[in-house]
Amino acid sequence: MARIGFIGLGNMGAPMAANLVKAGHSVTGYDLAPAALRALHRVGGHIAGSAAEAASGAEIVITMLPAGEHVREVWLHQGGLIEAVKDARPLLIDCSTIDVDSARAVTAAAEAAGLSMLDAPVSGGTAGAANGTLTFMVGGSADAFGRGLPILQGMGKNIFHAGGPGAGQAVKICNNMMLAINMVGVSEGFLLAQKLGLDWGKLHEICSTATSNSWALSNYCPAPGPVPAAPSNRDYAPGFMAALMLKDVKLSQAAAEATGSPTPLAAHALTFYQAVCDAGDGGKDFSVVFRWLAGQTRG
Ligand code: NAD
Repeated sequence: MARIGFIGLGNMGAPMAANLVKAGHSVTGYDLAPAALRALHRVGGHIAGSAAEAASGAEIVITMLPAGEHVREVWLHQGGLIEAVKDARPLLIDCSTIDVDSARAVTAAAEAAGLSMLDAPVSGGTAGAANGTLTFMVGGSADAFGRGLPILQGMGKNIFHAGGPGAGQAVKICNNMMLAINMVGVSEGFLLAQKLGLDWGKLHEICSTATSNSWALSNYCPAPGPVPAAPSNRDYAPGFMAALMLKDVKLSQAAAEATGSPTPLAAHALTFYQAVCDAGDGGKDFSVVFRWLAGQTRG
């Protein structure tokens, strides 16, 4: 069992850290929010007064932060976590969803300090984090992947080595770009069905066994009713915040721009998530795009 420092105990980090405690690891956590620290303490974790303190003496240091700027801040600036931990030679794992450039910059700084680092973003949402069934898409060397695998298995079910540094983030932004588009598509289908006089439960029953089926439709239906556990049944409480989805679609569009890739549907979907956030719903689950679209109804 390992000593683990865990930084970023939000919607995802809190249940992930709790699962590592449950698996028998000794977890010391840090978050800017005192309530997040208290929650870790309640499930048997130790709490620290800074990121450096959480990482001190750890064999594995994990971050689960909102965006690239926070990851750079924690690893490279805020007291320089890489600098602070380098003598103990822990394996560093960033599970946040961030831009490929930030992932590669932090990994390069870690390697320059003689440390191994993995970018290991996740898919599966807060339910996957709570149930320990996340999918991890991991970038980094084969050696580092081998070292991190038993730890990641304490938080997830499907752990993939995607390639070298940044490859995990590359897979993740493609995944979320496809999900963002798909969620809009499912929303449009359910709204049209309503106008055609169909019952959402019936539509869901049929389409979840037909060719339009998808994770968004069968597990996370944006129309209230058919999937009781979906955020649509709790006033779109997250889940996965629309503001984070907007961030991820922006990352995909920056990557598309840099590589000359055609992504016209994602560019259009981005404007929807932007409108959702501009309307004050950035803190709601991203499936709230359904409610925003419903508000665009003509006639
Ligand atoms: P969140 O906002 O709930 O949690 C982030 C936590 O980081 C917060 O508790 C915040 O206080 C903390 N934090 C920010 N800056 C910090 C710093 N300098 N030091 C210490 N703590 C700091 O976000 P989340 O939903 O847990 O998402 C985390 C990451 O996981 C994001 O990159 C997101 O895109 C990704 N993700 C989220 C989901 C989901 O369903 N929520 C799914 C897959 C991936």
